[in-house]
Amino acid sequence: MTQIGTDLTTAKQLLERGEVVGIPTETVYGLAANALEPDAVVKIFGVKNRPSFDPLIVHTDSLEKVASFVEDIPAPARLLAERFWPGPLTLLLPKKPLIPDLVTSGLDTVAVRVPNHPLTLELLRALSFPLAAPSANPFGYISPTTARHVADQLGDQVPYILDGGACRVGIESTIIGFTETGPVVYRLGGMALEQIEAVTGPLSVRDHSTSNPKAPGMLSSHYAPRKPFVLKPVEELLARYAPERIGALAFQHISPLIPSENQQFLSPAGDFAEAAKNLFAAMRQLDALDIDVIAAELLPEQGLGRAVNDRLRRAAA
Ligand code: AMP
Ligand code: MG
Repeated sequence: MTQIGTDLTTAKQLLERGEVVGIPTETVYGLAANALEPDAVVKIFGVKNRPSFDPLIVHTDSLEKVASFVEDIPAPARLLAERFWPGPLTLLLPKKPLIPDLVTSGLDTVAVRVPNHPLTLELLRALSFPLAAPSANPFGYISPTTARHVADQLGDQVPYILDGGACRVGIESTIIGFTETGPVVYRLGGMALEQIEAVTGPLSVRDHSTSNPKAPGMLSSHYAPRKPFVLKPVEELLARYAPERIGALAFQHISPLIPSENQQFLSPAGDFAEAAKNLFAAMRQLDALDIDVIAAELLPEQGLGRAVNDRLRRAAA
């Protein structure tokens, strides 16, 4: 069985022995292992049931340490790192051979990030190696934003979960890659595009694709509850389902058409950051109800609303 606690020494010792540990970050909880040790990294894929074509993000505590395992930090990457780390921004950089191919699914770039969580930063500072860590959920399911979420789903396979409270940002990091024509967005996430573009200028966004899984982790179906999840107004579902069989995930307002206990709303004040923070926990609560379908509403396409909508669309795919 797993143990949940705040003991950094326990977490450190397990990681040094090549075990996996649940760690808090400001985005979502991660399932961490020694990024330089293939025998440790392979356990992450096993516990998550994650296909090996989906590469992992490597976490460390400083740009100096990043320089020890990447070949090059292009000028725009350095600018973004200096401006936004620690924070919900991941950069794709050319890897040194030191990073096992398993971590990058054979790609020659490695995804790196300095997470902004005091407990995890302290752990990373104490370790002599970086941590590979994807979200700590079974592959394809809703990402965890509390230690309890991790324990509920992976508890029997993870010896220790470091409890850092509820995640402040609540959705995964924004991922930026660097091409010959400039920076490109690989995944929308916890850092709003507008903020990044203020540094880089206008950015293009890569398409998701299931047919080309080497455009990794951008699988079009992801973050999904087990219940049917649709982007439709409640009204439309009433033709097929009784009101008490319908759940709803709304931005600001609850619907008078179905029972209030079947509903979650992300931010009564209409705040995108609050909506992102509440998103995955709300999806989990709805998924646990005795209902047949969940109707979700998209947010306006701006700021973090875009990243929330990206998760909602993929949950519905
Ligand atoms: P997760 O931590 O579960 O959100 O998954 C990490 C995600 O980072 C993957 O699913 C990919 O989308 C992305 N990623 C990691 N490494 C790379 C890379 N070298 N190139 C493109 N995307 C990457
Ligand atoms: Mg994930």
